[in-house]
Amino acid sequence: MICAGNWKMNKTPAQAAAFVKQLRSEVGDSSDFVILPPALLASTVAAELQGSKIGWGGQNCYFEAKGAFTGETSPMVLKEMGAGFCLVGHSERRAIFGETDQLLAKKFQAVQSVGLTPILCVGETLAERETGRTEEVILNQLRAGLSLGAPVKPFWIAYEPVWAIGTGKVATPDQVQDAHSILREALPEPGKNAPILYGGSAKPDNVASLASLNNVDGFLIGGASLEVADFVKIHTLSKR
Ligand code: PEP
Repeated sequence: MICAGNWKMNKTPAQAAAFVKQLRSEVGDSSDFVILPPALLASTVAAELQGSKIGWGGQNCYFEAKGAFTGETSPMVLKEMGAGFCLVGHSERRAIFGETDQLLAKKFQAVQSVGLTPILCVGETLAERETGRTEEVILNQLRAGLSLGAPVKPFWIAYEPVWAIGTGKVATPDQVQDAHSILREALPEPGKNAPILYGGSAKPDNVASLASLNNVDGFLIGGASLEVADFVKIHTLSKR
């Protein structure tokens, strides 16, 4: 099972280096793990992962490779630094930074075009779930996100119900099963088998029941990815 850790805006360079050293010593060089550090810590993480199969990627980037875009991160630079992945459309990017489906489609395309694997995040808010709009919302986000992309190139999807992110509330196995089947069904060939991760308060004590579900290929983990012990435990407990 894939375990991708979204550190969000956490850790210092020293803490990032210590984390990666400890992770390598505990899991060897397992390709099941991906670390998504904040941009300023990318070089530290890249240096510590030299020669490792553990992956890393950006939490966000712009859709242009270079130019007058003050404060932005270039997907081309992420690639040259050794990244393998970049998140696209995390709910915090959508809600706090106002990223639209149109912008995210361009980011998805840009990430693929430099040879990185985009991890497209989709998920409904509590109000959308409670008004029966989950399917419509996640399908719209999926279709919009993929609209400029190339299904022939690698991509991953993360189903992250907004109400479960950082709240301690985890989606039930039935909710996860339903959402992942809807997403799998809607994936275009030849990307039909793209990994679909679950994200939203995934923790050692709740992953086992989700990991056994069809179409759950791994986890996108925020809070519980900040400590090596929890991150590794999630991987161990989600083996099937
Ligand atoms: C996330 O940041 O994508 C996430 C799922 O966070 P958490 O695990 O803390 O809910």
